[in-house]
Amino acid sequence: MPSEYIQIIRTQVLTGELSPYKFFDELKDAESADVIAICEWITSNLSIKEHPSMVKLAFTKLAKRRHLPSYDKFLSLKKDWINSYYNEYQFVEALFENARKGAQCNCSVYQVSRFNVPPYQEDLERVDEKHLDDVDFGVTHLVYVRCKDCGGIWEVGIDYMYHYPHSHWSKMRD
Ligand SMILES: [Zn+2]
Repeated sequence: MPSEYIQIIRTQVLTGELSPYKFFDELKDAESADVIAICEWITSNLSIKEHPSMVKLAFTKLAKRRHLPSYDKFLSLKKDWINSYYNEYQFVEALFENARKGAQCNCSVYQVSRFNVPPYQEDLERVDEKHLDDVDFGVTHLVYVRCKDCGGIWEVGIDYMYHYPHSHWSKMRD
């Protein structure tokens, strides 16, 4: 299976026919071991200078899966990793560091406000949401998610008043 995806990278992503984001979207349905193999192939074979989105998305996926064998290679890219949004490198580094300390899930990183993590992460399951119709500004949307790894439930309030949405995480219960 990984070889089919690698073929797609060679024939469609590297030719510009398929965007890196669409490619990673398609990876959602792949087996976990295959996703890791594909991301390792990307981080070993593509350069961050030529294919920054592919390499960054692959490392982000590996970090979210707490794949520690990739941590050193990630750290070695620090000078070439130009943040396309504020704190992007720091977010991936925090995910790896959290894994290195033995964490079994990513919750303690997702809740850090400076990373502004949206509640739509593949290791989280949406359990409920509410639109607050009686408020005109600030948080107008609440999304409740359960971590698939620790079972903890979070309320994520989303504020759409900025250029891009701001997410505020609060723990409901363990
Ligand atoms: Zn968790």
